[in-house]
Amino acid sequence: MPKIEIESEFCKGCLFCVEACPKDVIGTTSAVNDKGYQYAVPVHQENCIGCSICAIICPDAAIEVYKED
Ligand code: SF4
Ligand code: SF4
Repeated sequence: MPKIEIESEFCKGCLFCVEACPKDVIGTTSAVNDKGYQYAVPVHQENCIGCSICAIICPDAAIEVYKED
């Protein structure tokens, strides 16, 4: 199964990835990182198809996509 990891300290909370993901894998949390940004998190990791759209669109290169375990 593909999966993603989001480096919360790189995230600026722009939510481009949340809007771009065709499978609604990514959502938000009320937690903030050290810079004070409310960061994105995988909320439906099981739905990820490994398309990498989220990683491509992220302006801060905070997302890694793993296509295999
Ligand atoms: S790789 Fe594709 S399906 Fe998976 S979280 Fe990113 S945009 Fe969504
Ligand atoms: S696109 Fe990148 S910086 Fe923006 S919310 Fe998603 S992970 Fe964070």
